[in-house]
Amino acid sequence: MITGVQVAAFSDSENGSSVSLPETIDPCPPDVEALRRLSDNLGSLFQSPEFGFCADAIISVGQAEFGVHRCVLSARSPLFRDFFARKGRTKVELKELVGDFEVGAESFALVLEYLYSGRVGALPKGVCMCADEECSHVGCRPLIDFMVEVLYVSFTFQISELVNLFKVSSILFI
Ligand SMILES: [Zn+2]
Repeated sequence: MITGVQVAAFSDSENGSSVSLPETIDPCPPDVEALRRLSDNLGSLFQSPEFGFCADAIISVGQAEFGVHRCVLSARSPLFRDFFARKGRTKVELKELVGDFEVGAESFALVLEYLYSGRVGALPKGVCMCADEECSHVGCRPLIDFMVEVLYVSFTFQISELVNLFKVSSILFI
């Protein structure tokens, strides 16, 4: 059965004009929905252990190890593309990529998640929480340290849109 709403949508598309779907069917335009699904699918490639079998490289940060996909990282960051093309290695320490600046596993994980999904996940609570009771919690040290690490990694990986995003957030927080 065709409802009145769907009939209206069909007749519009026959005229060749661009149509956004009526809210009663789907509040989200199809192309946005498709991109969201792409983001979810690629994001789960990073987050979910069930996709561990197709990871083809490991990046270690201190004791933590991240299974990654060289094709995804190379497509998303010129630094990774150059590194994997030149070295072809599958076991990498983060220090080899970003130098001696101290970067925590949580900061790196946030950047990785962005590389996969194109979205910035929630900030890890334990890492960015300020335990100082005297603190007014404006520009708290742990949060700023975390932001600086993310900014540094994003800059080194040449992910300009994430650099800009975190520059703005840093200004807001400080
Ligand atoms: Zn604080």
